[in-house]
Amino acid sequence: MTRWTRATVATLCGGCRRHIAVGEPLLLLRVTAKIEKRRCEICGGGAPPDLPREIERATPPPVDMTPLGLLPLNWSRTPGEEG
Ligand SMILES: [Zn+2]
Repeated sequence: MTRWTRATVATLCGGCRRHIAVGEPLLLLRVTAKIEKRRCEICGGGAPPDLPREIERATPPPVDMTPLGLLPLNWSRTPGEEG
């Protein structure tokens, strides 16, 4: 499976070893579930014209704000209280 995206970190092309800067088009070639090869725009044959200009950002997982059972989230020390 291949897909075009934009580089989120500076990297090297796996074909010509050209430097790919952040935001440049990048062709991802999925070899296996864990192995993905990177190709620059030249080696990949040119990025599609409809490639978004924004860099894809993975949506961070929601932060679990459940108290850990030690202190409530709204805990605050009363002034003058010995601790
Ligand atoms: Zn290349």
